[in-house]
Amino acid sequence: MADTITSWSYSRLLDFEKCAYSAKLKFIDKIPQESGPAAERGTAIHQLAEDYVCGKLSVLPKELRLFSNEFEALRTRYVEKKVSLEGDWGFTTGWEPCGFKEAWLRMKLDARVRTNTTQSVVIDYKTGKRFGNELKHGEQTVLYGLAEVLREPEVEEVTVELWYLDIDELIATKYTREAILRYLPQFEKRGMSVTRATQFPPNPNVFSCKWCSFGPAKENQCEFGVLPGDTPISIYRRKFG
Ligand code: SF4
Repeated sequence: MADTITSWSYSRLLDFEKCAYSAKLKFIDKIPQESGPAAERGTAIHQLAEDYVCGKLSVLPKELRLFSNEFEALRTRYVEKKVSLEGDWGFTTGWEPCGFKEAWLRMKLDARVRTNTTQSVVIDYKTGKRFGNELKHGEQTVLYGLAEVLREPEVEEVTVELWYLDIDELIATKYTREAILRYLPQFEKRGMSVTRATQFPPNPNVFSCKWCSFGPAKENQCEFGVLPGDTPISIYRRKFG
């Protein structure tokens, strides 16, 4: 069995940075996890959006109605062959585009629009709230923009749009090629910290462990997890009965 994590994505990076041991359980030991209702809903809505834009659905699903104008425009551009959907993007350690399966960095794109030869728009559909996720979504935005200019050498300006489908908010951020490339070294450093790690220390704390699927509040496969109000005796009892 592999004892390193061979590829990373933005969500994998966050898992690793929050608690390297949870990343080990998830990506090396491959302990199965149940996806929660929010994740399942998100997946279903992404599928509805793709089906509507590519014409498989003729009526806009109610889940997308707050973005009816935007989806209509996207659908029109799809017919004009200016939109690509649900891209699986992969990059090597040298940041060269490559196949998804063998990639060092993997990304999934919801939609991409080529507006002209030097400009493009990358769109990410978001379900759920924005509040509290600003930093995470901001970093994700940068990574999308970076990936776009690396894949498309002629693109000089990329706009990354986050469509918050549940709350009717659209956040658009524009980058020049030169500006976005400045972020590459820091992502490379963080990505390498995931894929070069050979030690996966736990980081038990009530905030992370409370929501961790391996933690005591859930499946309890992690022996280090803690709960709010834990004492040495409660931890001992949980472990040894
Ligand atoms: S329960 Fe806590 S320490 Fe254990 S893997 Fe999850 S976050 Fe890490």
